[in-house]
Amino acid sequence: MTSGLFGETAAVGSFAPWDPRTYQQVHGTPEITPNVLPSAVQVINDDYARSGLWSTGFPNAEMPPLVSTFSFSRDEGNCNPKFMRTTLYVVPKTGGILKETQLPLAVSISPFAELNIYEKEPPVFDFGPEGPTRCKRCRAYMCPFMEIGERSFRCGFCHTITQVKTADFTDFKNRPDLRLGAFDMVATNEYCKNGRAPKEPAFLIMIDVSNNSFSNGMLPLLCHNLEKILRNLPREAGQLESADFQEPFVPMVDGLLLPYSEALPGLRAALAEIPKIFSQSRTTETILQPVVQAGLDALKCADRAGKLIVFSTVLPTYDAPGKLKAKNQRSLLGTDKEKGAFVPQEDSYTKLGEQCVKSGVTVDLLLFPNGFIDVATIGQLSAVTGGSIFKFQNFSAQKDGIRMLYELQRHVSKKIAFDCIARVRTSTGIRPITFTGSFYMENSTDLEFATIDENKAFLTEIEHDDTLKDEAALIQTAVLYTSMTGQRRLRILNMCLPVTSDYHQVYRLADPEALTAFMLKQAVQLNRDKGSAEMKESLSSRCAQILATYREKCSEGAPLGQLILPESLKLMPLYVNSIFKNDAISGGSEMTVDDKVWQMELIRGMRTEDVMPFIYPRVMPISDFQINEKEEMKELPKLVRASADFLDNTKAYLIDNGVVLFVWIGAACPQTWVQDVFGVSATNQIDTESGLIPEKDNAHSRALRRVIQLLPRGIRQRKTFVVVEKSNLEPWMKKLLLVEDKSGAANMSYVDYLVYIHRKIRNLIS
Ligand SMILES: [Zn+2]
Repeated sequence: MTSGLFGETAAVGSFAPWDPRTYQQVHGTPEITPNVLPSAVQVINDDYARSGLWSTGFPNAEMPPLVSTFSFSRDEGNCNPKFMRTTLYVVPKTGGILKETQLPLAVSISPFAELNIYEKEPPVFDFGPEGPTRCKRCRAYMCPFMEIGERSFRCGFCHTITQVKTADFTDFKNRPDLRLGAFDMVATNEYCKNGRAPKEPAFLIMIDVSNNSFSNGMLPLLCHNLEKILRNLPREAGQLESADFQEPFVPMVDGLLLPYSEALPGLRAALAEIPKIFSQSRTTETILQPVVQAGLDALKCADRAGKLIVFSTVLPTYDAPGKLKAKNQRSLLGTDKEKGAFVPQEDSYTKLGEQCVKSGVTVDLLLFPNGFIDVATIGQLSAVTGGSIFKFQNFSAQKDGIRMLYELQRHVSKKIAFDCIARVRTSTGIRPITFTGSFYMENSTDLEFATIDENKAFLTEIEHDDTLKDEAALIQTAVLYTSMTGQRRLRILNMCLPVTSDYHQVYRLADPEALTAFMLKQAVQLNRDKGSAEMKESLSSRCAQILATYREKCSEGAPLGQLILPESLKLMPLYVNSIFKNDAISGGSEMTVDDKVWQMELIRGMRTEDVMPFIYPRVMPISDFQINEKEEMKELPKLVRASADFLDNTKAYLIDNGVVLFVWIGAACPQTWVQDVFGVSATNQIDTESGLIPEKDNAHSRALRRVIQLLPRGIRQRKTFVVVEKSNLEPWMKKLLLVEDKSGAANMSYVDYLVYIHRKIRNLIS
């Protein structure tokens, strides 16, 4: 069967790059090994050549480096791709081209994305009482793609001419909104709720003080460290409140909210008292909805947007609004009936979430369950409000405490915008059709977010409603938001893409990573709505159609027996097949309903930067590395492919997807390494239970810990597992992370999937 892949002519010894021309010249035996398939690692390594300073381009946006390549952007009029990244760096002239290629035109938007140390935050400008300059017809904001006239400008989006009356029009050409792809403007009162400037946002922390939070050690640990953690609130922060919800039914009164410095003595005293007061607590039942309601009321009463950070250990079964029942639907996972398990028990949590959005309040859930806690229902509080869910199943302060504290510290110090309304505008002829992310919509154009933080993205798919007549198409995202200092601002993000009817161009400028993020989100949605069989068929067919059209339009002469892949999309089959293997998609009864829903929620707002390692994990050999005292690590170990075929059992590896981190130790790993890193003489003596890597003062241990430190920030504080070859955890690790291999009956290996896609392509063409 495999010979069908390359037809009679082929079998390729060295494969990169996947170029049909070199490919046709190669002859040999028709045997396929993973070595001849397009390699994600090779592509990632090749792209390192683009690391360093990178210019965003003008007038047209340049295709950005891969997310794995460390680069820093210079804004030339198009925004940093961390803010907006599109599946195509060209816009087809007609919708017919998109339909024929099946390539989506979708933009992943992360308006407050985390930048690296070499990148500057978009500057803030104040245009005074005049406020922002906008097109009188389509309301697009002034940007580098407007045509400036004497006392007017012509809109790049809709071509309408708008007169400008401002006195300093002579200085117009130096204005930042005419130069930059990303910038902030101070909003005038007309952009504020009720026409009034907002107050500073506030943080409210609500802690479960039931017996459960004592027995797992969460509450004492948190009380002991919270003051230190709160010092990391965003630097612009002015406000902080804390409350314990001993009497959560009692509405709070205004005046509770204090600036951090004033709150500190009371906070310190409360944190010292809480463990004492509640240490004898026998209560194991808790409430949740009234707690969130009380928090929302408190913030509303204080007339502030903000964040509720809620710590909860158990399903809210106590007799109060939002009381939930335990249910065990684990057996439904991975079956046709699965979606039944994802339906909220009741919609009151969703409705409360919507109320929160209206007041600019986000709910973060930090969950510490030992059993079912119904993420599908209570998670709506975060899903609707743009919050985050952190889940510490079977939490133990000893094993997970440090990770939890780091996670919390990192979370509260994130860049964050409150009370946001976002709108995406495009050139006449195209428009956003669908949106994916954590937001609330009352009409078909405005997205309301209680908050957007630096790790969150939303996605929009754009479609044609006419043939494009211009040479370029524009996309502008405007986010009206309240900053941490309580200033109402607008963030404007701009992108200009060339318009083409050339299929070669369309394929050449497809961004494989934005496309993967789009497909992952679509897969989660389809899997939830239609079930896994239909989802897989839909994505595979799309993948095959994309590649079949490439053949038809761009490489007509090639024999049918050959699989021809466009250079930009040569990894698409690998990534699609990896998406199918993701736990959020294919997780069965080996995982819990809560875990699966949690992962689905995580993906909903995931940035492309986090999607890629999540779909194709980083695997790197580590046991050869040593760092002597005072020596710095120069570069990370070279990646190897995510397949057991590439793991050498005389070595140890780090395997990472941004959420979990495995240290895999081959059975024949050198004894000196095992001794140096774990302080034991054989692999079978390694403590694999604790998930801890001991701190030892030697070159091997130092190297391992340093590499872990140097890993790009994951979407979560990674949970670490130590796995020795052939131990109990290994099959799980392989299924989860070695995505090139076959895993279970339902999932194909990379090779098999490529054969399968090739067959589909042949069927489409013939
Ligand atoms: Zn306009």
